[in-house]
Order: sequence, then C-alpha cells, then structure tokens
Amino acid sequence: MGQKFQAPKGVAEYTPPDSIEFLAVRNALAGAAQRAGYSYLELPIFEDTALYVRGVGESTDVVSKEMYTFDDRGGRSLTLRPEGTAGVVRSVVEHSLDRAGLPVKLWYAGPFFRAERPQHGRYRQFNQVGLEALGSSDPALDAEVIAVAVEGFAALGLTGYRLLLNSLGDTASRLEYRDVLTTFLATLDLDEATQARAQQNPLRVLDDKRASVQAQLVDAPLMADVLSAESREHHDAVRGYLRDLGIVWEDAPRLVRGLDYYTRTTFEFVHDGLGAQSAIGGGGRYDGLMAELGGQELPGIGFGLGVDRTLLACRAEGLAVGQTSRCDVFLIAMGDVAKTRIMTAAASLRAASVRTDIAFDGRSLKGSMRAADKSGAKLVAIVGEAEVEADTVNIKNLVTSDQVSVPTGDLVQEIQEMLNT
Ligand code: AMP
Repeated sequence: MGQKFQAPKGVAEYTPPDSIEFLAVRNALAGAAQRAGYSYLELPIFEDTALYVRGVGESTDVVSKEMYTFDDRGGRSLTLRPEGTAGVVRSVVEHSLDRAGLPVKLWYAGPFFRAERPQHGRYRQFNQVGLEALGSSDPALDAEVIAVAVEGFAALGLTGYRLLLNSLGDTASRLEYRDVLTTFLATLDLDEATQARAQQNPLRVLDDKRASVQAQLVDAPLMADVLSAESREHHDAVRGYLRDLGIVWEDAPRLVRGLDYYTRTTFEFVHDGLGAQSAIGGGGRYDGLMAELGGQELPGIGFGLGVDRTLLACRAEGLAVGQTSRCDVFLIAMGDVAKTRIMTAAASLRAASVRTDIAFDGRSLKGSMRAADKSGAKLVAIVGEAEVEADTVNIKNLVTSDQVSVPTGDLVQEIQEMLNT
C-alpha cells in the first residue's frame, strides 16, 4: 500500500471549485495595477537571508520569528520570501530599472511564507498581489497607490472594509518620536524581552498584540505630535487627493505596521467580517530602503494585498466571484470515428476561445451526459453514428433542452451564436 501525504500545516491551498474564485480575486487585484501603468515583475521565491534582515529589519516579528531560512548546498543562507518589497527593490537595484523614466512602477503576485501560528485567515504560505513605485515623492503617487487597491476591491464588489491611514514621518521626525516614545516606554511595566525591544526599536512595541501591553499604551505619545512640517504637508496633500477621489479613510495615529522600512504615508485595509486576521492589505512609503539596499537614494511606495484574506472577505460579504462553470461546451462521441471528430472539433472551439471539454473513456451516453451536467457546460454536442454518416453534430442546450443538428463545418459559428444568446 502506498503512503498517503497531507499538505504541510497551515498552507493555503485551493482546489476546484474554489480555486476559480482564488484566480478571480488575484486577477481582479492584478488587473487594477495593470490598468494604472504598473509593469509585471516575476521574482524569485527565495532570496539571500541578509536582504530581509537588512531590508525588513532584524527586530521585526517577520525577521526574528517567522522566516523560513535554510542553507543551500553551497552553504549560502537563503530565506523563502516573507514579503515582496525587499525583493522588488533588490531587483530594481540589480538590474538598474531606475535608469528608465521615474517613477518606475512594478507589480508582482505569488506566494509568500511566514512561520506563523496557523488560524483562520493566517497561513504559513499565503498569496499577495503587490505593487511598488520608486523614484517619486509626489503625494499624488501615494493617493494613486491607495486608489489602485480600492479599485481592485471595487472590481470584486467588496464594500465592507475600512482604510486606515497614518504618517510615520521622515527620518528627522522618526528620530524625535523615537526619543519621546523611548522615554514613555521606560515608565511602563513591561517584561524583560519587551523592555529590550523598547530600547532597540520602540515603534515595534506599539505593534505588540498583547492586551496587557496595549492597555498601557493608551497614553503613548503619537507620531502626529512630532511630525515635521514637511511630513505634515505631505500627509495633508495625500488626504486632499483622497478626498478629491471620494476615497473614505480613517485617521489611525497608532498604525505602525509590522515592517521597519516604512516612512511617511502608511495604510492598512481592514475588513470587519474576518475576525482576528482582519487586514486584507497594507502598505506605505519607504523612502530610505533603496539606499539601504545599495541603490541610489530614491523614495518608494507600495502595497501588498492579501489574496487569501480578500477571498475570505468576498465570501463574508456573500459575493459570488469567478465563473462557476469550468467549460461552456461538452463534447460526446459514440464510437471511434466520432471520437476523432470531437477531438478535432474541440481543438477548433478552443482556438476560437470557447471553453470546451470532452467525454473520455467511451462511457455510455447516459454516463457522458452526467459528466456534461457536472461540468457546468451550457451546451452538449453529440456525435453518434448517424452524425458521422451525415457529417453533422447534434447540439443540445442544457438550459432550455432545445436541440439542433448542424453541419460539422458550421459547428464553431453555431456554438458561438448559441452561447451569446
Ligand atoms: P504585510 O506585509 O504583513 O502588511 O501583509 C500584507 C497583507 O498580506 C496583509 O494585509 C494580509 O492580507 C496578507 N498576509 C500577511 N500575512 C499573512 C498570513 N500569514 N496569512 C494570510 N495572509 C497574510
């Protein structure tokens, strides 16, 4: 007896018929990026571990606790990508993509990996559609990036989410904030590990999920209190554009997000139908990252949208996403000569972009009709001995039960007409 296997714990996996919904969500989010002039980037799924330590930040949960890191056979330390931005910036620097016109606008999609405790909406392998724009500080770009995400969600019909917006300030305001926050955190009753973290990276403490810590942070100083004039102006301009675009947001002065590289605009989309794992996407500016990773000093902004959670959000709203059937026409042959006919007919229909499947294994007509029903096809085309003789095909509409016999040569055109009515 063979051994049965299960997928590793906590991975997101989509099987038919749900997989079509997954594709529809991914395509809707990616379509919004493509319509806004972002070019596609296909990136490796593992990178040099140091890229994430340097780019995402050593003291973040993602880097310190959640990376899948391994040595390859040449003794290099590699990590399955936990997020997209560091890899995009690495690629831009490596291939000098910033030599073309600025801003350089790129999008990507695919699986990401974090060794988190699996739960509803939180997986160890999950999927994102993301985009990044490098080389412009224009606040209109911040608004565009947010608008692209909003448009992607709108394409799915999603409405029950909120946009949270904050500014983390520029380097100068961040340093000042760091000081006032460190002083405040020193007055709290925190365990040793959290105290150490407060010293090393005080902003990370604001991101602590524990209620005992959050309760003590109610009076924490806010970044908004120390924002430099320039950062404040930028933030006001972003909000102005959002207002003009009719995009509703909530100011979220405590939003810090889990990665170290963010500066100025930061945002998160949360959906209230999802329970604890409510973030369906997030992003922001990372004005120092490109230089940190060896490139020229260019500002950047981007987002990562969670495909898995966006799908869960669509389900929570009762939205039907994606096509429910996997084909439009199902072809059935009775006999060997007829089988060759339907193989040829299937090739012609597919070449004409008609989604077509055929009955295999020479089953009875009854068995094949059952398969046709299951396939979700609207039309069944049957070739039996009489049809071979007359060089015709018998088409049955499964919705109306109407039947017609058409010459084989007219099949593609007839089927296209019947599908369009
Ligand atoms: P982040 O880079 O943490 O801001 O992630 C961006 C988006 O990816 C989040 O808003 C989620 O929608 C999604 N995401 C992040 N981590 C996970 C995970 N472990 N499982 C499922 N989705 C995730």
